[in-house]
Amino acid sequence: MMKAFLAVYPWDILDADTAAILDRLQGEIGVQGLCVPVAVPATTQIRARDVEPRVFRTRGGLFFKPAEAHYAATRCKPGVSSWVRGRHPLATLARAAAERGLELRPVVSASRTGRLAHEHPSMACKNAFGIESCLSLCLCNPDVRALLSGLVTDLSSTYGAQGVVVDDFMLTWSDALRTDLLTPAMPTAESELLLGACFCESCWQRAAASGIDMAAARQGVRERLEAIWNGGAEGCSCDALESCLPADFLAWQARELTTLLGALAATSRCELLAVRRTDGPAAPQHAGVDWTVASGVVTPVTGHEGLATALNVPARRRELRLTQHAITSSAPEAVVGLLHRTATLGCSGLEVGNYGLLPEAALVPIKQGIRFARRAAAEPATP
Ligand SMILES: [Zn+2]
Repeated sequence: MMKAFLAVYPWDILDADTAAILDRLQGEIGVQGLCVPVAVPATTQIRARDVEPRVFRTRGGLFFKPAEAHYAATRCKPGVSSWVRGRHPLATLARAAAERGLELRPVVSASRTGRLAHEHPSMACKNAFGIESCLSLCLCNPDVRALLSGLVTDLSSTYGAQGVVVDDFMLTWSDALRTDLLTPAMPTAESELLLGACFCESCWQRAAASGIDMAAARQGVRERLEAIWNGGAEGCSCDALESCLPADFLAWQARELTTLLGALAATSRCELLAVRRTDGPAAPQHAGVDWTVASGVVTPVTGHEGLATALNVPARRRELRLTQHAITSSAPEAVVGLLHRTATLGCSGLEVGNYGLLPEAALVPIKQGIRFARRAAAEPATP
């Protein structure tokens, strides 16, 4: 049976009438579970409903109270958002979900949880010019790996969660993607990929030990970026993005991510799912990851295009994530059709996002689409 989850930020549900919202999501919209981001990047959110404050701003961090014992092995101590002060948001939400038989999936940003890279520059990603990221921790760093292990243990053992979802699972200097980054030439998929490549000490050591010539890789990245920024480089086609970095470097990144994902899945006391990117600078590394080491893989999609490709990945369970942009930019009939089609393609779970960003009108086709999708998934396949 296909399960439908709705993504919801803790502040959008706990600062409101939690019981009424959950009753409605379950009874009227028909969702079986909630995906709740609890280790969150810095966020500025224009809320879809006319609530106070209309713009929610956070520097990010943890939106739950961590049990300190799980973080003894890391120097990268997670910061708790001031919003949490005086309350136990995840415990409250877990109790309310359990009372209704709703599944709970905490979502963790593996590399971009707010303030951590800024506060621990020695654990942050570093670009080819040796500049640390303000946003991204490097997943090759041992303290960062110990932090993730602590988060997964904590979240999978304390709240009765059925699954933990790991997002932003990438080795990327993600400052390359900032919309306020000023660059000499118009950013392209290639320049973002090259500028995003991590050459921090942890990456360098581990890759060099695997026989990668990191000095040559870094030099190649620098030279190509200089050529792009000087305006003399011919653009690289998006289809061949993988060829912009050395194949052995990308294969090594994919192996590192696979090993880490396998270790996190082994640590987790419940299902562990990871979000896979098919576009942006993480896509080439994700193309080589063995997702079967986790309980499942969640692939974001923006519409009908690429839907079949998104599900065409070896994994123990294949799920899709449909964001509010995919929903609000389509006609209601198209949203219903899209949700219905996911089920016919063999998708076993659907994450629709995000409650706080979805206008009320958008919930109507979601409700209908979920009903059709679950009905289609329950029917035997027709030849
Ligand atoms: Zn690194």
